Order: sequence, then C-alpha cells, then structure tokens
Amino acid sequence: MLNLIGLSKYEVEEALVNLGEKPYRAKQMWHWIYCKGAQNFEEMSSFSEKLKILLANHFTLQRPRVSHEQLSNDGSFKWLLEVDGPNNIESVFIPEVDRAALCVSSQVGCTLNCSFCHTGTQKMVRNLTAGEILGQIMVAKDKYQDWKKPASERKLTNIVMMGMGEPLFNYPEVSKALRIIMDPEGISLSKRRITLSTSGVIPMIEKVGTELGVGLAISLHAVTDEIRNELVPINKKYPIEQLLNACRTYPGANNARRITFEYVMLKGINDSEADARELSRLLRDIHAKVNLIPFNTWPGSPYSCSSTSVIKKFASILNNNKISAPIRVPRGRDIMAACGQLRSAKENNEPKKLNSLS
Ligand code: SF4
Repeated sequence: MLNLIGLSKYEVEEALVNLGEKPYRAKQMWHWIYCKGAQNFEEMSSFSEKLKILLANHFTLQRPRVSHEQLSNDGSFKWLLEVDGPNNIESVFIPEVDRAALCVSSQVGCTLNCSFCHTGTQKMVRNLTAGEILGQIMVAKDKYQDWKKPASERKLTNIVMMGMGEPLFNYPEVSKALRIIMDPEGISLSKRRITLSTSGVIPMIEKVGTELGVGLAISLHAVTDEIRNELVPINKKYPIEQLLNACRTYPGANNARRITFEYVMLKGINDSEADARELSRLLRDIHAKVNLIPFNTWPGSPYSCSSTSVIKKFASILNNNKISAPIRVPRGRDIMAACGQLRSAKENNEPKKLNSLS
C-alpha cells in the first residue's frame, strides 16, 4: 500500500487520479493530512463512505512506529522511532518559553564519524525517505495535539535538521520533506523557522540557499584544518577556507539572517583564547553568529567539556569582536537527547529513565 505521507502534492494528485478521482480531491486530502493531522481515512468527513473505503484499500497514512519515549527533567522529549524492521532513529522535542523546536534525523546512522558525536559511532544504514523525515514531525504533532491550530497557537514552532545523519548527503529526500513542511496549504512552517545543519558538504550549500532558503548552520568546531580533520573528518575533503568561502556567498544570508556556526567546547582541544581570536578573524567578513555548545558526553567519548569560565572567556572574546556567541544551555542530557548524544541503540534508550507526559 502506498503511504501518502511524504508524497508531493503532484504525486498525491496522481495517486488519486489513478483511482478514478478528480484532481481537486488532492487538495482536500492534503488539508486532511497536513492541517488536520488525520491518522486514518475514516475521519475524513468530507469524503463519502465509498471513497473512504477505496482510499483505505489503497493507501496508508503511516507514521514511524514509536518504539520508546523518554521525558527529560527539563521538559525535552525524545522518541526512538522504528522506520522499518530493525532500523530506528531518534527525534527530540525541545520546548522553550516562547517556542519549541523538533530536532529531526535525516539518516539511519551516519557515514561521517565526527569524533565528538555519538551518532558518528553508529554504522550508516540508509537514508531516510521524505515520508520518514516528515513522519517525525507528524509523530511530534500527534503527541502534542498540535493540529488544527493557527500558527500563533502551535507548540511546535521550529524545525532543526540536526538529528542523526548528514542532511546534505540525503538532499533529494530532505528537500522534498522540507518543501512539504513549508507548503502554505499544509503545515506551513516558514523557512525562517527551519534550520539545516551540515558538517560542510560544500557543493550542496548554495543549493540549500537558492532552492529552500532555510537557515544554515555549520558544524565548525575548530579553527585549524589539523584539529578539524580530527573532529569533523569531512574537513579533509572540504577544508575550512573553502567552507567559509561557500558561507560568504550563501544566498539570503544578511545581518538579520546570520549563518550559525556550531562550536562544541572541548577541554584542551579547541577552547583556547587563541582559538577564540582566530575564530573571530575567520568569521569577520561573514554574516555569522556562533553557538557555543558545552560538550555533552556519552559512553566511550574521548573528550570532556571545557570549564564554564573557559567557555565564558571564549564567548567574551567573540563578543568583543562583534560576533554574537550565545552559550547553549544543554537540553535533555539526562535522557541522552542533547546535542551530539543521539544514537538509536538500546543502551541510549534505557527504560529506567522513562517518564510519562502529564
Ligand atoms: S555531527 Fe552530524 S555529520 Fe557528524 S557524525 Fe554526528 S550526525 Fe554525522
């Protein structure tokens, strides 16, 4: 059976026309799926009983299956989602005072082996489909009853493509899913509320700006190629200078829409005052802001987090050079849901931490 979630509008129309329906049904179907969050055809009250049966015999509205859920003490919520057979991914809902972001995965595992990242220890299995990427958002919206609401009342306000995997190694499916998320007749999330994070796949960066126009985040984490080769091995192929050149010409970047440079603070590795001064120099002619991320440890990790005083000093050097450098407050550390901690393995989702939503 064909899953309608993740199909483009044109593909939905084609599927319905192939069943003998009029093309306008596609618009109604789209509304049921992406505005009302319908989970089955039975609840589609604008369709006749006969049509509902026909639809149920040919299509599904299948989300990834929830294998496990964990609620952090700080309100973050992590799902372990089964996408097929043995393959699982993780997604994390991160509520704040006036917004909430969902951290979405793009691959099962990752090829890139960034040495500070728990996902990098998991073998790459496959790319996710657009339906599986979108399915993570559908699961979150189901959980938080976030359908049928005007944008101003929604809980899920932002999407960050920062979960498991390198999204630009799965660009066709990631871009298809993001177009559906941004579609004004559906979930209708503005491109300004979507951020795509890459380890630095240079040939794809311009495309993200011209085709999608979403916010760009770069996993930078070091100021020399020598250190970055260790932390983010794709740097051997796409070194810092070339990466920053691609950022300089990122379409749509300006003072109001800055490129975010992620910088994980690793004790004794990349956190010296000289590193901060060099980072300021590297970013001086780019519309940039830096997210300083206190390292979130994981079992077997070779690193430890810089001290608070070192992180604050690092931030102040950037600030003195007119670069905004907020220090990220770690979220979901107690359930291994913080930045760099995702890994869809059993030990990362221990039942002892299971809480329930009130
Ligand atoms: S940081 Fe991103 S690209 Fe690097 S290993 Fe982790 S998931 Fe993969």
